[in-house]
Amino acid sequence: MDEKFPSRDRTDVRTPMRCPICGRSLDEVVVRDIGGVTADLFWQVHAGRCPVHGWFQTEVIARPPREIFPVNKPFGTVRRVVVDGREIFSFQTLWNTLPKAQQRLRVDPLDARFWQVVPSPGSHQSHT
Ligand SMILES: [Zn+2]
Repeated sequence: MDEKFPSRDRTDVRTPMRCPICGRSLDEVVVRDIGGVTADLFWQVHAGRCPVHGWFQTEVIARPPREIFPVNKPFGTVRRVVVDGREIFSFQTLWNTLPKAQQRLRVDPLDARFWQVVPSPGSHQSHT
């Protein structure tokens, strides 16, 4: 790590995020605190690697994440994955499917129940 920029990344951490394709827990988990300066804002980026399906990442801002993205590396760029012949650029979480009224409630943003991936019928499809 570059010492001029004290790392906000923690590597000895756990994440509620699991591989959105096979559901296994992720290795090499990294959590970057973005809201760390202003203690009242919970803002983190979580990344982790599935040994089979590669890196995944999500952003947590006060609430559980709405989507989990496949990425080429932690804090890298989004890559596409193909699941059952469909191209997918993001996986929606259970949180994203909840009614708006429920999403306004205060919840633990790291509550693993909300991080479960649900099938997204609106996924991008491609024939290339
Ligand atoms: Zn996997």
